[in-house]
Amino acid sequence: MSVPFNKLIARIDLDAIRENYLLLREVAGNPAPVIKADAYGHGLLPVARTLAQAGAGSMCVGSVEEAVALRGEFSGRIVSLLGPLDKADAAAVVEHGLVPYIYRREQLAMLAEAARNAGGQARLALKFDTGMGRLGFRLPDVPDLVATLAANRELRLELVASHLATADEPARDDYVVRQRGVFEAVCSELRAAGLDFACTLGNSAGLLAYPELRYDLQRPGIALYGVNPFCGTPLAHLGERLRPAMSVRTPVAQVHSLDAGESVSYGCTFVAPKAMRVAVIAAGYADCYSRALGGKAEVVIRGRRAKVCGRVCMQLSIVDVSDIPGAEAGDDAWLLGGEGDDPVTPDELAGWWGTITYEVFCLLGLNKREYVDGL
Ligand SMILES: *Cc1c(COP(=O)(O)O)cnc(C)c1O
Repeated sequence: MSVPFNKLIARIDLDAIRENYLLLREVAGNPAPVIKADAYGHGLLPVARTLAQAGAGSMCVGSVEEAVALRGEFSGRIVSLLGPLDKADAAAVVEHGLVPYIYRREQLAMLAEAARNAGGQARLALKFDTGMGRLGFRLPDVPDLVATLAANRELRLELVASHLATADEPARDDYVVRQRGVFEAVCSELRAAGLDFACTLGNSAGLLAYPELRYDLQRPGIALYGVNPFCGTPLAHLGERLRPAMSVRTPVAQVHSLDAGESVSYGCTFVAPKAMRVAVIAAGYADCYSRALGGKAEVVIRGRRAKVCGRVCMQLSIVDVSDIPGAEAGDDAWLLGGEGDDPVTPDELAGWWGTITYEVFCLLGLNKREYVDGL
């Protein structure tokens, strides 16, 4: 998927992803990287290849399509499926030996039927809602699940999973502890029924901040792409060695002068308070450079910051280059990252945008991508 009609390039630094993965492995032992949603906009296949080379034995994707795309080069590794699963997916799940996160009784019947049709077994993870209030079984469902598994021998439970709602908010650690308590209760009840399985609870923030929640494997996503989930909190030191993998640039289309009192862009919302020079850059909301960034965001040109003036247009924006001597058409304008010692960080861009880094990556990653790999 890519936005084909403009000039934006998302550059993906695979070395950064490799280093982030190795760092997480050093901390936690057994991360199963989360590469759903096209690896958070970084590109499913290049990211999966990089992680496989670095030694990742299992990975988490979001859909059967993503899992099947990894088949072949990825055989022998455990691919688990975090996303929704319907009847049409069951046969492919069994055929490819995927481990889907099951959150509804009917899905067990679908899987059992697909396994019987294929004359094989269906591997699966049980997903429990321990406080996220989203998908999953709950503690009182355990006896029924145990009975269903016992009655359908082709169902092979491999993993018990849950997801944390507040792990990246140090002030909400009480809620994490509560979720852990429910998770432990679920796991012991399943074990007491004679079942054997691995456990997974932590996302990036859980992995970094809660050693007691690391269990058999961890599911880091955002940290892999270089975002510190604790940026701006008292736990910021936990993720300070992570390095962002995505940077995004676009060319300057024109540079021109403004007299004091002249305006730029739709609605004339920005009026030059003094004589200025501005650069028109080839980035707008059609390229997923959000209109919410108007008047707020900064870009990097020639290693210096330039602020967006007035409204972001569909495929163009205007930035103040008064303090960047020599800025001219053809220069790179970095919307994210940038050369020099003051790159735009994912957290800064998300802040101006009014969102989180996850959404910034998923959206900007829809543009054309290029890959950097030092190996
Ligand atoms: C996306 C996702 C993750 C990864 O979370 P991060 O905050 O990006 O580390 C882990 N587990 C599940 C179930 C997810 O959907």
